[in-house]
Amino acid sequence: MALIKEKINLAFKFIKGNRILVKFTSFALVSVLSLVVSIVACGITFGFNVNYSGKNIAVVSRTSVFDKAKQMLLDNMEDKSAKDAIENPKFKFTITVADKLESETDLADAIIENTDSISNGYAVKVNGETLVYTNFSNVKDYLEEARCRYFVDGAENTACFVEDVTVESGYYLQEKLEDTGIAKAKIDALQVKTVSTVTSEKEIGFATKTEKRNDQYVGYEKVVTAGENGINRTVETVENINGAETARTVVSTEVVKQPVTQVVEKGTKVQYSAATQKATATSAGLIHPMGKANVKKITAYWGDGRGHKGVDLSGNVGTAIFASKAGTVVSAGWDGNYGYSVVIDHGNGLKTRYAHNSALCVKAGDTVTQGQQIAKLGNTGRSTGPHLHFEVIVNNKQVNPLTYINF
Ligand SMILES: [Zn+2]
Repeated sequence: MALIKEKINLAFKFIKGNRILVKFTSFALVSVLSLVVSIVACGITFGFNVNYSGKNIAVVSRTSVFDKAKQMLLDNMEDKSAKDAIENPKFKFTITVADKLESETDLADAIIENTDSISNGYAVKVNGETLVYTNFSNVKDYLEEARCRYFVDGAENTACFVEDVTVESGYYLQEKLEDTGIAKAKIDALQVKTVSTVTSEKEIGFATKTEKRNDQYVGYEKVVTAGENGINRTVETVENINGAETARTVVSTEVVKQPVTQVVEKGTKVQYSAATQKATATSAGLIHPMGKANVKKITAYWGDGRGHKGVDLSGNVGTAIFASKAGTVVSAGWDGNYGYSVVIDHGNGLKTRYAHNSALCVKAGDTVTQGQQIAKLGNTGRSTGPHLHFEVIVNNKQVNPLTYINF
């Protein structure tokens, strides 16, 4: 029993000893493996510090990255002589991590940053020839503004430079780059052709039509339809070069609003005596012989307690006296108490007399129209003041004029 136990103990020891060995071997293996794993996991790698112009500017995987970066710069430089501005670097072997390695693009940027004589910039070209190299960072926006600077307000505009203008970005020798002011001045001098589609409206004056009204006196005028101007819309394309018009073409023209003809009524009825006279003819067709407005006062009526055979209308000497109705002058001249008097025969036994005139405008035998001036008011014959003595005579007998005329 004890033997068996001893054997077991021995075996156990052996196993134990072996385990130590195994343990040691495992530890070494695991260490190496984990180191490899760590290197791989952390991305530790070899590289080169690029020392350029006295500064470490990048870490690259190979020294050839610098040559590629330099070539990239030269490819972006018009002035190949600028290659002399790129200094030769010094490389130093180093251990680094993979994601710290810089590409040739990053390195190119770093080279530019550290080369004082080379800068990022732009070349503005006209027909392929360089107009200006500039460090004006907003040169593209400024070109766009310059292109649009002759747009016409309120129009649809398109514009282009007269010449072929392009802008490129790249690396340039610092000494060749012009500043913003010079770049702007050169761009401002470029010719721009602008084509604007302009819509304009013009008024079309309205016409006036007159409609005659024979039931209204001359002087009567009434707008029965107010005139309205029409509108003509024209669309034109206008070309300008630097704002100076060079061509204009009418695209369309359209009447968008027709004018409305003004209609004016005008009286054609002859106006007898003063414009204010609106006396209407009675059934016998007689009108006021001097115009109601010109009568200062009716100084005597028909009868008048002394057998007055007419109506006396006082007024200023010289006031026009009119034929009360068309007819033939049967007498015109001095007539005793009547002074200078006119008698007109209107036919059908109707006559009128106009007495005490200062002057006569007609003679016996004249044909007169209604409202025609026949005399001037006066104070001749048996008269105590300037007035018209007016009579209506029917079948050779005076009648009351008030039944014929509204005095
Ligand atoms: Zn009288």
